[in-house]
Amino acid sequence: MEDYDLLICGAGPVGSVIANRAAEELGWKVLVVEKRHHVAGNCFDEFHQSGVMIHRYGPHYFRTNNEELLSYLSRFTDWVPGNYIVKSCTRGELFPFPINLLTLEQFFKRSFSAEEAEAFLREKAIKIETPQNSEEFVLSRVGREMYEAFYKGYTEKQWGVSPSELDPSVCGRIPIRYNRDCRYVDHKHQLTPKLGFTELFRRMLDVPRVKVLLNSNFLEISRSIQPKFATVFTGPIDEYFGFRFGKLPWRSLHFDFVGYNEKFRQPCVQINYPNDYLYTRTVEIKHVTHQDCPNTVISYEYSRAEGDPYYPVPAKPNEQLFQRYWQLAQEEERSRSVYFVGRLATYRYYNTDQVIEEAFKTFDKIKARHKAA
Ligand SMILES: Cc1cc2nc3c(=O)[nH]c(=O)nc-3n(C[C@H](O)[C@H](O)[C@H](O)COP(=O)(O)OP(=O)(O)OC[C@H]3O[C@@H](n4cnc5c(N)ncnc54)[C@H](O)[C@@H]3O)c2cc1C
Repeated sequence: MEDYDLLICGAGPVGSVIANRAAEELGWKVLVVEKRHHVAGNCFDEFHQSGVMIHRYGPHYFRTNNEELLSYLSRFTDWVPGNYIVKSCTRGELFPFPINLLTLEQFFKRSFSAEEAEAFLREKAIKIETPQNSEEFVLSRVGREMYEAFYKGYTEKQWGVSPSELDPSVCGRIPIRYNRDCRYVDHKHQLTPKLGFTELFRRMLDVPRVKVLLNSNFLEISRSIQPKFATVFTGPIDEYFGFRFGKLPWRSLHFDFVGYNEKFRQPCVQINYPNDYLYTRTVEIKHVTHQDCPNTVISYEYSRAEGDPYYPVPAKPNEQLFQRYWQLAQEEERSRSVYFVGRLATYRYYNTDQVIEEAFKTFDKIKARHKAA
């Protein structure tokens, strides 16, 4: 094996950003080891056999408020405007989701001003001073009727447990809007890479001094490589430490991609099914990629306990277990310059922009330590 300045586990967003910046700004020689057959991590997109672009590991709606981050990513891609509209199918009707004034008007069959809606939901809400879990959180915001129509069944399918067993933050991350804005998220920039995420990260890694080794397990490769300056680990933190305190639980997903010979199959990119079917949602990513083709693909998404890690399960015992591993990780950073960053290594649900911000911070930390040495 050649000599490398920086060794990186994982060619996802974090691994790609740090590799790119280390090569371009510091002139370092970087080896990125990726166990899958592709780069881009969970943002990976590809063409279905019918020619339609799909998001292999679940729909990715890129959004950010960070101008610096957007301008950095724009070096590697052009963008198309995001069109992230989600509806929830309940009582046989499609409702705008997250809940906004239009949802309330359709659901309660009356009109509302913002003030009227707030007062109405205050009446419906169950008085709970400090919600201890997601069920209490939603009940204290919208009351039982909407909780059961929109949140309860979806959360149970998604997490395999009652919302009463999950942190308030799980349902708390979904806004309730007192306006008629039907967009899924509020961010200033809602954009999709014109040629896809895979191409964006492929270009980011396609710079002098960066080598990417696909289909290779970092935990094996790292035995025979000692990088000169640092290691960045973006894989599962418990695996790095040989699961010595036990396994961190993750929620997994399964996708069935089905092609249809029609231009569009559903009215928007995502439909949630809180109370019907075994799948949680159907996604037609073509609404977002704006691909010009006569056919389409729907992804039917099922949630499950076993399989690849997708979502960390936000509950107290899991956080405590993670903290035990994090102590080891801090020591590993101090003593051996191994940096743990990203979704799998920090057991956090991060969106892509957030994880890239974390990558920037880690890179700055590595750079500062190297300069000081
Ligand atoms: C279902 C789903 C939907 C999402 N939707 C959105 C969205 O709409 N918008 C948004 O902004 N973000 C979304 N995200 C989040 C986004 O996917 C993550 O923020 C991002 O992918 C995290 O980047 P990462 O580099 O930390 O991890 P990853 O993308 O997971 O990359 C880590 C890489 O490390 C590799 N690896 C792990 N262990 C090893 C090993 N031992 N050896 C070699 N390689 C290894 C993995 O194969 C993987 O490629 C979604 C995530 C999920 C799960």
